[in-house]
Amino acid sequence: MARQYDLIAIGAGSGGLSVAERAARYGARCAVVEKGPLGGTCVNVGCVPKKVMWFAASIAHTLEDAPAYGFSLAGQQFDWARLKAARDAYVHGINDWYHTYLADSDIAEIVGEARFVDPHTIEVAGQRYSADHIVIAPGGAPLVPDTPGAELGITSDGFFELEQLPRRVAVVGSGYIAVELAGMLNALGSDVTMLLRREHLLRRFDAMLRENLTEEMFGDGIDILARTQVRQLSREDDGTLSLDCENGQRLEGFDQLIWAIGRYPLTAALNLEAAGVACDEQGYIPVDKFQQTGVEGIYAVGDVTGRAQLTPVAIAAGRRLADRLFGGTAERHLPYENIPTVVFSHPPIGTVGLTESEARDLHGEAVKVYQTRFTAMYNALTERKQKTAMKLVTVGAREKVVGCHVIGPGADEMLQGFAVAIRMGATKKDLDDTVAIHPTSAEELVTMR
Ligand SMILES: Cc1cc2nc3c(=O)[nH]c(=O)nc-3n(C[C@H](O)[C@H](O)[C@H](O)COP(=O)(O)OP(=O)(O)OC[C@H]3O[C@@H](n4cnc5c(N)ncnc54)[C@H](O)[C@@H]3O)c2cc1C
Repeated sequence: MARQYDLIAIGAGSGGLSVAERAARYGARCAVVEKGPLGGTCVNVGCVPKKVMWFAASIAHTLEDAPAYGFSLAGQQFDWARLKAARDAYVHGINDWYHTYLADSDIAEIVGEARFVDPHTIEVAGQRYSADHIVIAPGGAPLVPDTPGAELGITSDGFFELEQLPRRVAVVGSGYIAVELAGMLNALGSDVTMLLRREHLLRRFDAMLRENLTEEMFGDGIDILARTQVRQLSREDDGTLSLDCENGQRLEGFDQLIWAIGRYPLTAALNLEAAGVACDEQGYIPVDKFQQTGVEGIYAVGDVTGRAQLTPVAIAAGRRLADRLFGGTAERHLPYENIPTVVFSHPPIGTVGLTESEARDLHGEAVKVYQTRFTAMYNALTERKQKTAMKLVTVGAREKVVGCHVIGPGADEMLQGFAVAIRMGATKKDLDDTVAIHPTSAEELVTMR
């Protein structure tokens, strides 16, 4: 006989944990199914260990800058193994915390891989479980191309398993994960080459951000090869990797190659046909604004929906779904506009709303842009002269702010508050009427002419 719940979440990552946690608070009997460690991508091979590495890389940059502030640093060394051990211990601590948390919240933890038997029943390790509401939240995994020799490379998952700092590394890809891994490895001492299939980094971001970031990455010594696609990857007798590229170029002497070319949804093992749930060509599950699939009682949240693949988005969608199903708020849903996001590059990027070109496509002549580029006070003394750049995209006579884009030290922590203002409909005048905080870089956002 199947065990019965009000709600089952498939996947104990950001989305699955959040929907079950919120539903349980309303008194629903909930279970989460997880085939790997609790916490999903974000906790284990995403945001959390990535941010630890970003902190380490930022410290490396600060050490570079320290002499300009009067410090004499001699003989400082970096121990990758020590950092990895501390990072792994931190992540395991979060995994353990989740076990306790689920138990304390009366949420059943089902260990194993879930597959549908029918629209209200799943099977995990030979046991059946039924629920009125089943939330599909299996997330995704990194793509590896079918290029000959591709298996000699690693992905972002493999990056977090590295036992030592690679001496020379190729990062294939141009999205935010590629940019972040390249920046961290470079700061920590690897010789990094990025290979871009097309012309630009961060294609979907505002042009100002990608242009400034490209300049900064070049300045930091990262080699960026545009329009370079790997045709074959081979291991040489000395153990190094060689890359033969489509453009005839041969690149040699790498000890690691990281594929950061995108992710795919983990829907293949779910036996979705048994539930009647449809996927698109890439395996993503289309949902309406209420996270509802085409089948009543089955929902999808998080990366598997293919939209805004970020932890806070999966969390917000999951919580709002639980509010709607068990909290008596029939219209509760997550609007996908104005989602702020940060790229943990060096320097970091913070961005929210429309890019300038998106705004011009939508609003034409009604768009007015304010921008500035300067050397932040921190960099006035340092040898490394990073630039900070900011752009406000406004629309109409009231100059409603529809986009805010920042690259520079502190951009990661700067954006959250501006995202609130923009969500509330702030105009340029509202920003101008806000008293500046001095001396900061952020004050430029309320003093731009
Ligand atoms: C390197 C990297 C860095 C990132 N950095 C950031 C960041 O800085 N900020 C940010 O907001 N986002 C970041 N992300 C994205 C973020 O991790 C994801 O958007 C988020 O984890 C998605 O949550 P989810 O619940 O959809 O899926 P996941 O967190 O991936 O959780 C899905 C879970 O389901 C499990 N599962 C899958 N199939 C089954 C099955 N059949 N049965 C049982 N269990 C199953 C998986 O094992 C997994 O644990 C990063 C991602 C990566 C890869």
